[in-house]
Amino acid sequence: MSCSKRSYSSEELALTALLEVRGRFENNQAVTVYQCEDCGLWHLTSKGNLHPALKRFLDTGQARKQLEAEYWERKLR
Ligand SMILES: [Zn+2]
Repeated sequence: MSCSKRSYSSEELALTALLEVRGRFENNQAVTVYQCEDCGLWHLTSKGNLHPALKRFLDTGQARKQLEAEYWERKLR
């Protein structure tokens, strides 16, 4: 089964995309990522709670690439 929404093969990729779209598109309302019950892949959604990584990203509003790198460094450590 496939979805019409853009999908990502992992949570990491979806989260990276979430920060990317929120950084690039002022009107984007996505707040977090979720694993789809239909296709098994990950999508962005505007429903739910603000993802901690996104909150941090929005709070600072700058140095996007650096924030992403820091986030994953800490998570993978
Ligand atoms: Zn899906």
